[in-house]
Amino acid sequence: MTAPAYQNSPTRGARKWSPEVESGGISQFSPVSGGTAWRGKSSLTSIPKGAGYNRQNMERTLAIIKPDAVERKFAGQIIQRIEEAGFRVAAMRLVTLSKPVAEGFYAVHRERPFFPHLTAFMSSGPAVVMVLETDGAIKKWRDLMGATDPAKAAPGTLRAAFGSGIERNATHGSDAPDTAAFEIGYFFPGVDLV
Ligand code: GDP
Repeated sequence: MTAPAYQNSPTRGARKWSPEVESGGISQFSPVSGGTAWRGKSSLTSIPKGAGYNRQNMERTLAIIKPDAVERKFAGQIIQRIEEAGFRVAAMRLVTLSKPVAEGFYAVHRERPFFPHLTAFMSSGPAVVMVLETDGAIKKWRDLMGATDPAKAAPGTLRAAFGSGIERNATHGSDAPDTAAFEIGYFFPGVDLV
């Protein structure tokens, strides 16, 4: 199997990125199966105090610019929209997911008919994975993305502008605080975000 980009991570060797995970065992770490490896990573979603502004209501979410949008060279425009909307990019990396890593990420959809196609698409090329921070980041990012199906997304949203189908919809965003904690820990294990 091709070495994943994560192996360049300073956390190489951490349990989440073990060969066992790369060979498909990552579902054991998912919240669905009650795995524990990702728990205790909540420091990634809690905001450090005293960074020069009021962080009391700050929240973090995981955002992905999916392979379709990276391939079509929309990443720059999407990042610009993110910054113009007032998010702080707390972390960012360009990664090509292996199929098992994509399957672990979307484990909640494992029973859905589109799961095999979705995970093949998500591992088809580079994606930009980010942690976004702002007041109410989870809802604010989902509002900026728009509805899952670009055809139904409100005008001006990212999916309406850059998506080309219900699967190839340009962006991903966590949908709740617990999924944000899981997803941030999934892509940035052991990283002290600043
Ligand atoms: P999201 O939270 O808006 O991303 O939507 P979901 O969590 O319901 O679905 C996750 C991802 O699966 C979506 O962003 C799409 O890329 C894909 N997806 C959702 N519904 C469908 C579908 O009916 N068909 C296919 N092929 N993909 C879908």
